[in-house]
Amino acid sequence: MENLCKPRQDAYDKLGPRVVKALEARHFEAWYFSTVEEAKEKVLSLIEKGKSIGWGGSYTLAETRILEAIKQGEFKIIDRDTAKDKAERKMLQKQALIADYFIMSANAISEDGVIVNLDGNGNRAAAMVYGPDNVIVVAGMNKVCKTVDDAVIRTRTIAAPVNAQRFDIKTPCKQTGSCANCKSPDSICSSMVISRLSFPAGKIKVILIGKDLGF
Ligand code: SF4
Repeated sequence: MENLCKPRQDAYDKLGPRVVKALEARHFEAWYFSTVEEAKEKVLSLIEKGKSIGWGGSYTLAETRILEAIKQGEFKIIDRDTAKDKAERKMLQKQALIADYFIMSANAISEDGVIVNLDGNGNRAAAMVYGPDNVIVVAGMNKVCKTVDDAVIRTRTIAAPVNAQRFDIKTPCKQTGSCANCKSPDSICSSMVISRLSFPAGKIKVILIGKDLGF
């Protein structure tokens, strides 16, 4: 993870707290941190010891090593990557949706506090809507877009084509790096969830980090 140049860091440090206020006005709990270390400490403090936690696939959580820290914590870990086969993996993914906590990133967040996620199999999208008692969203400031429309466009034009490169899938974006609005069975763009408000209030907790993280 690279340090940002000073102008970008300054801009993130000015915009981050404003986005936090916008998120709070929509009943999300939200915090902004300039550094990954501060953010990691906050995430760990939000999870009650002994409670269950699952997660959605996220480059941000890996890159920040937040997932690694969670796995070392005193929590009941629901880790789909420990599954012996596809059936067990599917079962663990379902269990994660009724966990006490679910941690994930976001594909985009508008400056006025709306969170947008685009999903292939839908587990992250589902968690945002219903299931886990607490959802913790960790996102770099590179995910913040001016408007909701910009956030939606970001999911399709930036997040998905880059994300596609991580998977063994047959989609146009995997070949070209650009979205072709496909209907491929392998498409990672099945469900888009636009979270306008947190219900109940405080269920969704957003940690914004003043860095460029994930896609
Ligand atoms: S080409 Fe298909 S899978 Fe790729 S970003 Fe566009 S809709 Fe999503």
